[in-house]
Amino acid sequence: MNRLPPGRVLGIVGGGQLGRMSAIAAARLGYRAHVLTPEADGPAAQVSHGVTVGRYDDHDALRRFAGAVDVITFEFENISADGLDLLSGIRPVHPAGAILRISQDRIAEKSFMGENGVPVAPWHAVENRADLDRAADALGYPFILKTTRLGYDGKGQARIHSAAELDHAFDTLCPHPLVAEGMVRFACEVSVMVARNARGDISTFDVTENRHRNGILDISLAPARIPPALAAQAQELARRIATALGLIGLLGVEMFVDHDGSLRVNEIAPRPHNSGHWTMNACPVDQFEMHVRAVTGLPLPPATRHSDAVMKNLIGPDDMALWPEILAAPRLLAHHYGKTEARPGRKMGHVNVLFPAGGLPGEFGVEAALGPLATPPADDAA
Ligand code: AMP
Repeated sequence: MNRLPPGRVLGIVGGGQLGRMSAIAAARLGYRAHVLTPEADGPAAQVSHGVTVGRYDDHDALRRFAGAVDVITFEFENISADGLDLLSGIRPVHPAGAILRISQDRIAEKSFMGENGVPVAPWHAVENRADLDRAADALGYPFILKTTRLGYDGKGQARIHSAAELDHAFDTLCPHPLVAEGMVRFACEVSVMVARNARGDISTFDVTENRHRNGILDISLAPARIPPALAAQAQELARRIATALGLIGLLGVEMFVDHDGSLRVNEIAPRPHNSGHWTMNACPVDQFEMHVRAVTGLPLPPATRHSDAVMKNLIGPDDMALWPEILAAPRLLAHHYGKTEARPGRKMGHVNVLFPAGGLPGEFGVEAALGPLATPPADDAA
């Protein structure tokens, strides 16, 4: 693909915070962002040059959007196959629709990983109740049952501890088919952000260590505190996946570090990823700029990291109540997504804290550095 000249328009499907931060990165490179979003005043629309307000399944809106832009990318992946075909018939779409179709569907995703020698947890497709019995026999208890499509932030999945829970889980999780997955006894969860452009150049960020709370990413640490050889292996897996997909764009690869020290890929997201937000302050070129560069045909600089970093998500009204304290805390680098309504569980912003390279502290140091956002100690002294 030829380089997109400055002044041209990057179309972004999706109006949330990932679109917002991509649009800001696009503006830094001289592009104009134009978003397709159902929300006229959402996080991405607030910082974009143009907005097409419409639903992702509204073909008229998709056509108007595509006509207003030069190249199309995503922050929202769950657009229908028809919608993707329609867009790619009008403008170049990166990453390609075929990649989104794989990442939208856990069965396609796991099959793809298997075909490319990428290790994943043992799994079984569950189309009917008999499949579920067979999967339970093969995996043993406990195991995890997930919807194949439309799961995010731990939604659309259940841990199954005994045969007594099978009926309820099968009936309540939807849409079908489902995927049954063996429970990985992981030592930690990590992710790798990898960018690839049309020339096949690849830039791979350092491995991130991720901790969740209530099914939502809470804290990311960079670099992950895993042995260097394992980190190199995680980056290599991410590159292998990006190459096998023929990726043009950015890909987040979530993995488990199993208790035996092996890696298993959990899922991929062909877009900027929450666990890559630390790059905004710890890298000369962050994941959003890398994403924009990859889809506009610009060179990809190495994904260098100048500092160690901790990222913490700001979730819902409780964290946002601390916004004045966050701004007053000298070490917290704050990012606000411009959302007006702070519903519980909603990602409202994040903070990054930097440490000199090699200086990422232990647990107490991380908590201390988070200042007003430190988790209160458990009240077990009373
Ligand atoms: P997912 O929706 O697949 O990203 O899963 C959300 C979270 O559930 C992951 O980040 C893990 O903490 C946990 N999880 C998912 N799949 C497994 C598994 N096979 N074994 C253990 N934990 C899992």
